[in-house]
Amino acid sequence: MNNNISKQLYTEALQCFPGGVSSPVRAFKSVGGTPIFMERGAGSHIWDVDGNEYIDFCCSWGPLILGHTHPAVVAKVTEALHKGTSFGTPTPYELALGKLILANNRFIEKIRFVSSGTEAVMSAIRLARGYTNRNKIIKFDGCYHGHVDSMLVKAGSGLVTFGISSSAGVPQSLAQETLVLPLNDVAALEQAFADNPDQIAAVIIEPIPANNGLLIQNRDYLVAMRQLCTQNGAMLIFDEVISGFRIGFEGAAGYYDIEPDIITYGKIIGGGMPVGAYGANKTIMSHISPDGPVYQAGTLSGNPVAMAAGIAQLSECLTPNFYENLANKTQHLVDSINSFCTERNYLCYLTNIGSIFWIVFSHDHAIRTADQIDADSMKYFKVLYHELLNKGIYLGPSGYEVGFISSAHTDADIQHTITAMKEVLMVVFEK
Ligand SMILES: *Cc1c(COP(=O)(O)O)cnc(C)c1O
Repeated sequence: MNNNISKQLYTEALQCFPGGVSSPVRAFKSVGGTPIFMERGAGSHIWDVDGNEYIDFCCSWGPLILGHTHPAVVAKVTEALHKGTSFGTPTPYELALGKLILANNRFIEKIRFVSSGTEAVMSAIRLARGYTNRNKIIKFDGCYHGHVDSMLVKAGSGLVTFGISSSAGVPQSLAQETLVLPLNDVAALEQAFADNPDQIAAVIIEPIPANNGLLIQNRDYLVAMRQLCTQNGAMLIFDEVISGFRIGFEGAAGYYDIEPDIITYGKIIGGGMPVGAYGANKTIMSHISPDGPVYQAGTLSGNPVAMAAGIAQLSECLTPNFYENLANKTQHLVDSINSFCTERNYLCYLTNIGSIFWIVFSHDHAIRTADQIDADSMKYFKVLYHELLNKGIYLGPSGYEVGFISSAHTDADIQHTITAMKEVLMVVFEK
C-alpha cells in the first residue's frame, strides 16, 4: 500500500496541530504508523489521498449509519445550505428534527439540541445537579462520556473509589465529586449510595459501553441501577451518544426497555454533522433555561444544515426492517469469523450487539468490565490492523474501539471482509 501523500500531509499537520490531529485517537498512536488522510467516501467505501480504497468500518466513529454521501442526506443538506448556514434563530429544520425524534421515542418528552456529544453530557450533568441540588456523580470504569472535566476521572485505588483526574487541567476539587465504580457490580453501586446519602445527583452510564471495548451489560444490572437511583433520589443518565439510533431508534433505553431520567445523544443524530442533544420528561426539562434555572446555550445549536442532515438520516432509520437488516448483516460477519476462529482455536472472537462489533483477543467470552481486558492482547490488534489496511479494510485505529456496520455495507462487502479477516487472522496467529 502506497501512502506517500498521507505521510507528507501528516508531516505538515504535525507543524500545525498537537500530534498532527484534531482528536487524539486519529494519530494512530496505539497501532503505530501514520494516520491515513481521507479524501472522499461513497456508501460503505472510502478513498484516501493516495487513491487507496477501503471498506469503512469506522464510519466516522459511529455517526454514519447510512454510510457516506447517502443521497437523501446530501439532498437535504444541499437544500438547507442554499437557504443559509446559520441564523441564530429558531428554524423549521430544528422543529422538524425535534418532532421526528419525540414522536418515535417513548423515553423523552422534550429535547435540547447542542453541537457535540461532550456538550450533551456536560449539559445533562448540570441539569441533574440543578434538578437534585446535589453535586456527586457516579460513573463507571470502562465508559467514556466525552471530554467533560468531571468525566475525565478514573478510579482511585482502594475500595472507596473517589475519582482522581485522568487528565491534566482537571481540578482535584472537581474530580472528587465523581465516584468511579466497576461495571456489572450491583453491590458496589449499593455501597456507593450507602456511603454518600443524599449526595448523589446522578449515575451516568453508557447502557451499552462501547468506548473501551464492547462491554455488554446484563439487563438485570441496569434494572437494579434504575431501582437504586429511584430509591436514592438520584437521576439515571443514559449516555446514548453511540447507542442512540444505533441499536434501534429508541437506542438502549428501548432495547432494554428501561426508562432513564435523562438521555444524551450525539453521533448518528446529526447525520455526520456536529450535533448532540439531551432529553428527558417535561418536568425535568422545565429546569432548563429559559424555562428554569439551569443555564445552557449555544450560538450554533440547532444549526439548520446540521438539523437537515439529521432529519434525512433519521427518516431512513425509521424505514421498516432497517435495524433488523443491519443486525443480520453484522451477525453474519461475526458468526462467520467466530466459527473460523473456533475451528482453529485462535485466541480471538468477535462480539456484537446490533450493528456494533468488537474484536476480542481472549478466551473469556463474557467480558463485562474494563479490567477483564488484557492490555497485552492489543499486540495482536496492532498486527491485524495493518494487515487489514493492506487488504482495503479500514477500522478505527485502536483495539479498544468498536466497529460499525452501516446500511450501505453490501453482502459483497461483508463477504470480502470475512475472507480478508480469515487471511489476516492466519497471519496473526500462524506466522
Ligand atoms: C463519542 C461519545 C461522546 C462524546 O461525543 P463527542 O461528539 O465526541 O463530543 C460522549 N459519550 C459517548 C458514549 C460517546 O460515544
